[in-house]
Amino acid sequence: MPKIKKQEIQAPRGMNDILPSEQPYWQFILKKASAILTDYGFEKIDTPIVEKTALFIRSVGEETDIVEKEMYTFKTKGGDELSLRPEGTAGIARAYIEQGMSVMPHPVQLWYFGPFFRHDNPQLGRLRQFYQIGAESLGDENPATDAQLIFIAYKLLESIGIKNPVVRINSIGDQNCRPQYIKALRDYYRPRAKKLCPICKKRLKSNILRVLDCKEQSCKEIGKDAPQIVDYLDEECKSHFKSVLEFLDEIKIPYLLDPHLVRGLDYYTRTVFEIWPEEKEGENSLQFALCSGGRYDKLINLLGGPKTPASGWAMGVERVILMLKELKVLIPEPHPQPKVFIAQLGELAKRKSLLLFEELRKHNIVARASFGRDSIKSQLRIANRLGVKFTLIMGQKEALDGTIILREMNSGIQEVIPLDKIVETIKERLKNF
Ligand SMILES: [Zn+2]
Ligand SMILES: [Zn+2]
Repeated sequence: MPKIKKQEIQAPRGMNDILPSEQPYWQFILKKASAILTDYGFEKIDTPIVEKTALFIRSVGEETDIVEKEMYTFKTKGGDELSLRPEGTAGIARAYIEQGMSVMPHPVQLWYFGPFFRHDNPQLGRLRQFYQIGAESLGDENPATDAQLIFIAYKLLESIGIKNPVVRINSIGDQNCRPQYIKALRDYYRPRAKKLCPICKKRLKSNILRVLDCKEQSCKEIGKDAPQIVDYLDEECKSHFKSVLEFLDEIKIPYLLDPHLVRGLDYYTRTVFEIWPEEKEGENSLQFALCSGGRYDKLINLLGGPKTPASGWAMGVERVILMLKELKVLIPEPHPQPKVFIAQLGELAKRKSLLLFEELRKHNIVARASFGRDSIKSQLRIANRLGVKFTLIMGQKEALDGTIILREMNSGIQEVIPLDKIVETIKERLKNF
């Protein structure tokens, strides 16, 4: 067989290994998320990471960036058209319908954590495989639900050390009032189309709302005077939005009204929001939303389920971690430091050490060993690197005598202890540290 080239088996671009040194961040965030979401009555759900492509076309929308350009879509050998999930809400809506959740007490409150996939240009905070924590509340139209969802995301960010996040919020109306707004937007942009970026020129026909949140300077400039949707909301949508804001005032969540916030997915109705890091003068190195979401009252019905209003959000875990690092937030170490190293020499000692390891574990004493090393010297070197308090050394003599050498690493003082007394002795000595 020819020798394999390194790049032939490298991880795909934009897909990362999450190394052990990174795991404390992940465990920390997940633990907090799980605790707060559970407190608020959300139950965890896992859906497959691949779904039928049609699900995403129907829900996210055929003419969105995600479906047009960013989905990993493939045909299986069995002939199914599948896609790696680009977001979490579609799969949950599908599961709600397929598992008959409409008979459960409402709202059905679900949360999830897992990888999502978008074939985008990888950059800081934008990976091709990225992880999200999400929360969905299904079967409730009330504006208080939107406010509470925002509240939970806000509190979660605060609880992990991201202080003063900024909630940006808007309403994009519904099927009843949005068409009038879209018409007004068309009328506004038609005479100005020449000045738009090439992508927005196309969006004028397919997805005109997205022109509003284009990041190109020319489009931003033109967008400043564009009609605002709040002026086009019908009575129901207007009062719904007003109530969401009143509830946010009530629970003391500060927010910014952002008339250009539209979100890039077709399924949203009424409330849409994003949560951003606090803006600090002159040091905006991280420019992305940490959390985004909104209401999707028509989605479940559109996918063939009963009429079920719903609302939810998703939080980008890698982005939150970048933010924690930027803010130098201290993360608790999830793995306790090892206190004891077991060094051994010879077969019998190895066998006895295996048992001793388990004995220590049962007494909650975190131990390490390196069974592959045969010299005591190299084992002691590892023990030093691990920073353990004690090393237990069992050579052939000790193994036969039923004893073990206890070495205090700081002083280098060694003493021989009967093997059946060693756990007790260690426990006693560790108390003094
Ligand atoms: Zn409306
Ligand atoms: Zn543009």
